[in-house]
Amino acid sequence: MPSVDSITAELQSLDRQYQIHPFTNHSDMHGTGTHIVQRGDGCYFIDETGTPILDGLAGLWCVNVGYNCREIVEAVTAQMTQLPYYPSFFNSTTEAPIRVAEFLAKHAPARLNHTIFSNSGSEANETALKVIRGYWKLKGQSQRRKILCRTYAYHGVTLATTSLTGLVNCQEPFDLPLEGFVRIPGPYHYGARSELTPEDYGRWCLEETRRIILAEGPETIAALFAEPIQGAGGVIIPPKGYLSGLREICREFGILYVSDEVITAFGRIGAWYASEMWELDPDIICVAKGITSGYLPLGGTMVSDEIAEPLLKGGYFAHGFTYSGHPSCCAAALANLRYIEDHGLVTKVKDDLGPYFEAKLANLAAHPAVSEVRGMGLIGAAELVPKGGRDALTPTSLLGAKASNLVRAEGAMVRGIRDLIAISPPLVISREQIDSLFASVERGLDKLW
Ligand code: PLP
Repeated sequence: MPSVDSITAELQSLDRQYQIHPFTNHSDMHGTGTHIVQRGDGCYFIDETGTPILDGLAGLWCVNVGYNCREIVEAVTAQMTQLPYYPSFFNSTTEAPIRVAEFLAKHAPARLNHTIFSNSGSEANETALKVIRGYWKLKGQSQRRKILCRTYAYHGVTLATTSLTGLVNCQEPFDLPLEGFVRIPGPYHYGARSELTPEDYGRWCLEETRRIILAEGPETIAALFAEPIQGAGGVIIPPKGYLSGLREICREFGILYVSDEVITAFGRIGAWYASEMWELDPDIICVAKGITSGYLPLGGTMVSDEIAEPLLKGGYFAHGFTYSGHPSCCAAALANLRYIEDHGLVTKVKDDLGPYFEAKLANLAAHPAVSEVRGMGLIGAAELVPKGGRDALTPTSLLGAKASNLVRAEGAMVRGIRDLIAISPPLVISREQIDSLFASVERGLDKLW
């Protein structure tokens, strides 16, 4: 029998030959050897070395119920056996997407009663963009074409959702953004090195937003996209009053408010939807990731009654994917959402795990390599500095990637972004595992200096 080492070497070689990875520096990866992850077990994954690694990122901000949820596997197996796939085209559908759409509506802010299914967060946002265009056209306001989006936002990888995204490294290689995407400042107080307090910085962002809207012409603006907490941009927690102020500005100018909850929905911050926590009453919520805990791909664009009405009455709805409402993916979603509900995970994050995680994160601020921590519920970040302090950072410091490698060597996975690490563990993590996660982070950061 070939040894584990020789199988790993063969897979690494085939991977190098045949696969292009997302958002990866291939020469770095091929230099160190691609990790070949083998198995999952609760909050741990096991790679080619056989060592369990505590997953402080829940896969990619999504494996909320951990890696061995029997209920999801059984539901998908049953659906696959009965009817693996049938489209929601031709005046037909299947039971699973109907049940998921009902579940989403019942747990969502009051007006959001209709879901358009897709396969990912990018597609959920892309769908929102098309629905918004169609909506304003049906309302006789086709001049509303421009979309407001924020610096440090991440909304996906299609041409339009990369244009929505406010990260230069995602756009620059493709000469994006497209026309019509208007950038407003996101509330990244630390990144701006602002002398203002975070709350005053948030107020400044709102004033700028209002100024930009007036300069563009409010009647030309269709919608604003905002993640309640900016995730891939660096876990940016909105300062007090900022999101409600943004919502208010949209209302004042008749601009649709889209809440991208691809990371924040389904319990991550101790609420079914973050929009509810901030009482945003959005016109559209986009979801993906945690809707199936990553077991199968699924995205959803949840729209208000007001937006649904003209679309439902407007004749032919000319949008959809072959796999919109895929029954097996929706079976995974339904089992996952019921698991979250039956195990009280949302309340557990709100009352127990979230505050515990936030307290551990606050302690991390005392580490000499940490210059700021931010967090809410089960999502957090630590900004890192070299020995010379923040002024010694350069664009190539990339302390986040270095730190995440060091933390991984200490038995836990976190994500490196620029000069910070992001942490977002499964919602089924225990207090002891949170202790262990932060102990690994501290040991890793000890070696950064
Ligand atoms: N929106 C947000 C807030 C995200 O965090 C992501 C992915 O990280 C996306 C959209 C894109 O989702 P996907 O990678 O499933 O296309």
